Amino acid sequence: MIKTIGLVAHDSRKAELVDWVVYNAETIKNCRLFCTGTTGRLVNEALAAKLGSECPEVVRLLSGPLGGDFEVGSMIAEGNLDMLVFFCDNLIVQGHQNDVLGLSRLASLYNVPYATNRSTADFIISSQLFTSSEYERIIPSCIESYKNRKL
Ligand code: PGA
Repeated sequence: MIKTIGLVAHDSRKAELVDWVVYNAETIKNCRLFCTGTTGRLVNEALAAKLGSECPEVVRLLSGPLGGDFEVGSMIAEGNLDMLVFFCDNLIVQGHQNDVLGLSRLASLYNVPYATNRSTADFIISSQLFTSSEYERIIPSCIESYKNRKL
């Protein structure tokens, strides 16, 4: 089954994310990518240069500060994302810091493999479990409990 990866990088870490994508191009070419706007443009350019006609589909959502982080978050909540790579700038507070925190919270809540740095992203994408058709991500029971809570 084709895996879906969300990719987001703040400006100071976009080059790092592009390097990561190129380094993992052989695996990533078999995935579907959903990126915030500018990240998606850079990722698409780099993958097209590396892979040519084998370049995977790169869907560009809104730019993160303009709602793109929410779009990625809604993909998580709807069960449509298999992995999130989100390289945040850890040295400055973003104008859309609340969106950043919200996206992190959803990835954690829904048990989505979530990398905030390059080595973690390498470990996840090279895991046999990531490409296995048999491995099923567990949806934490607290989600069903919350839906059925008595009021
Ligand atoms: P961008 O958005 O890919 O459009 O730059 C990322 C972000 O800053 O959240």
